[in-house]
Amino acid sequence: MNERIARAREHLTDALIIHTDILVHKAEGVTVEDVNGKRYLDFTSGLATTNTGHNHPAVVAAIRDQASSFLHSGCIFYYEPLLALCEAMNDITPPGLDTFFFSNSGTEAVEGAIKLARHYTGRQGILAFTGGFHGRTYGAASLTTSNIKYRARYHPFLPSVYHSPYPYCFRCFFNQRPQTCSMDCLTYLERFFQHLIPPEEIACMIIEPVLGEGGYVVPPAGFLRKLREICTARKILLVLDEVQSGMGRTGRWFASEHFDVVPDIMPVAKGIASGLPLSVVVSRKEIMKKWPPGAHGTTFGGNPVSCAAAVATIGVIREEGLLENARTMGEYVLARLRSLQERYICIGDVRGLGLMIGIEFVKEGRPDAEGIKRVLASCLKRGLVMIECGVDRNIIRLAPPLVVKKEEIDRGLGIFEEALEETGVGACR
Ligand code: PLP
Repeated sequence: MNERIARAREHLTDALIIHTDILVHKAEGVTVEDVNGKRYLDFTSGLATTNTGHNHPAVVAAIRDQASSFLHSGCIFYYEPLLALCEAMNDITPPGLDTFFFSNSGTEAVEGAIKLARHYTGRQGILAFTGGFHGRTYGAASLTTSNIKYRARYHPFLPSVYHSPYPYCFRCFFNQRPQTCSMDCLTYLERFFQHLIPPEEIACMIIEPVLGEGGYVVPPAGFLRKLREICTARKILLVLDEVQSGMGRTGRWFASEHFDVVPDIMPVAKGIASGLPLSVVVSRKEIMKKWPPGAHGTTFGGNPVSCAAAVATIGVIREEGLLENARTMGEYVLARLRSLQERYICIGDVRGLGLMIGIEFVKEGRPDAEGIKRVLASCLKRGLVMIECGVDRNIIRLAPPLVVKKEEIDRGLGIFEEALEETGVGACR
């Protein structure tokens, strides 16, 4: 470990995990360069955030411009980037979702979403899904079940929060196989209403349309549509947490578009401002209108510089065709990974939408966290940064910036394959 990092680490809490020991000098696009001039491909996008690539020149220029004229409003003044962002967001959000509350981080947007749901419905119950990650502040942590470490020693959580299994087909809670699945996870919900809380006391259901931290899992077609039907029939608000899956990550502005489902409330963050702190609670005017002035607020939320970065980010995604690039590159990555899966026994499952792709490692049918650790370390040594996710930390999350080119994908996957060989984790079939 670099000596300066070691010194700083003395003062940084161990609770904060920093995934590599790389001390960055500069970054551009998919590449990060350390202080010694070593270059890395960043297939993490800084936790699925730098969707336009590191330091996109148009985003940097917008930040510079705004920083030199007006930095902070604290909800005292209006400023041009806020007005422009309202229009830009309105152009890309699902139909009818036209009203916004801007805040700073994903967890804050989730807090806003559940407060809005309770306030609007006058109901207390919240239903989340086991395996989901929604953030670390107390309300969001009450919904989060992707790993027990986010919950241990923090009880009691928010009352009236319940959980139902996320449809994680590769490791089904109900031991079904995709070929014979009868969607027990949906039947369970009906049982749930009979045994635990009546639907008329539930304010909202909150779910990630593609599971992020919980394992990069795409739910089966039809699951979210059925949830939408249940919510509409029972007057429960459907909250789709698009903090990670939104802003083009899956090849559409929002992952919900793949499933033809329109939520009632949608928290968005991460990729929205290419790395500056910004998040937003999105909903319909009719719902937001019932949230009276002062019922929610913020000092820093929607700050001028982040809003300017977000307007530039949306422009770049549109002008550079990044949604399409995410779809094309995503399909290319999936195809290459599936052919690796045929060769290497350690790859149990490959799945994803756009550039939100999970590679699940197994050994003798069980999650293989040890193997993944060795493969990731070997990749890092060779200049490829990837990280893992999932409750057993046995899934590689592949989330390169949406600007990634085919040659960068080829280089990255080449390194991945060398790492499988070098470590012996791959073990040919
Ligand atoms: N929701 C989802 C789906 C996330 O993936 C995350 C972060 O990874 C959050 C909420 C929390 O976001 P933040 O870390 O910005 O608070």
